[in-house]
Amino acid sequence: MEENFRNIYKAIQEADALLIGASNGLSISEGYNIFADDHWFQKDFGDFRSRYGIRNILQGLFFQYPTEESKWAFFSRLISRKCYLEQPGPVMEDLYRLVGSKDYFIVTSNGEDHFVPAGFDRDKVFEMEGRLTQSRCQNGCGTDPYENQNEILKMAEAEKNGQIPSELVPCCSCCGGPVTVNMANSNAFFQTEQFQKKMQDYQNFIKKYHGKRLAILELGVGW
Ligand SMILES: [Zn+2]
Repeated sequence: MEENFRNIYKAIQEADALLIGASNGLSISEGYNIFADDHWFQKDFGDFRSRYGIRNILQGLFFQYPTEESKWAFFSRLISRKCYLEQPGPVMEDLYRLVGSKDYFIVTSNGEDHFVPAGFDRDKVFEMEGRLTQSRCQNGCGTDPYENQNEILKMAEAEKNGQIPSELVPCCSCCGGPVTVNMANSNAFFQTEQFQKKMQDYQNFIKKYHGKRLAILELGVGW
């Protein structure tokens, strides 16, 4: 086993660049399991659990809430606690140290935006299924996704009994339509300029290191 780790470490040290692929297993190693009805979920979302029968975060993300006020209560509580108030843990800090000064690119299906707070460059992280720290028009009217930190923290602070005040429900600055977090929950997600550009950046990175020593780290990726 130790021999394996030594070989992996050597490959990383000798590489010209690193391509990091990351999925739920990496999140779970940090204690964030979107599939589990675990202590964290029951402690933070026990009220949603008993009111709507939601048994984990994944169900909460795709649940059809009766009102925009209750939908944003769930999202603002999750996003504020997980993405904005929690500090990077040792797993992400170690990963950042391991990459060091090498060129890298990260492609991930994780939506909790845990790479940038650990020190990674926003331009080199491609969240191919979106991230919770952005919102966008649900009508897909053509406006690009925006950073949602201010409005999410305001909602979370004002939330009471699984509802946020109606005046804090966000609406699209262009068409006035409803807003959704920027996840891959409709075709509109893939058509945004931001998504297309990141996909191009990913391809450019692969081309740049074609034929060179590119180490690929696959972290917590299933089939
Ligand atoms: Zn719109």
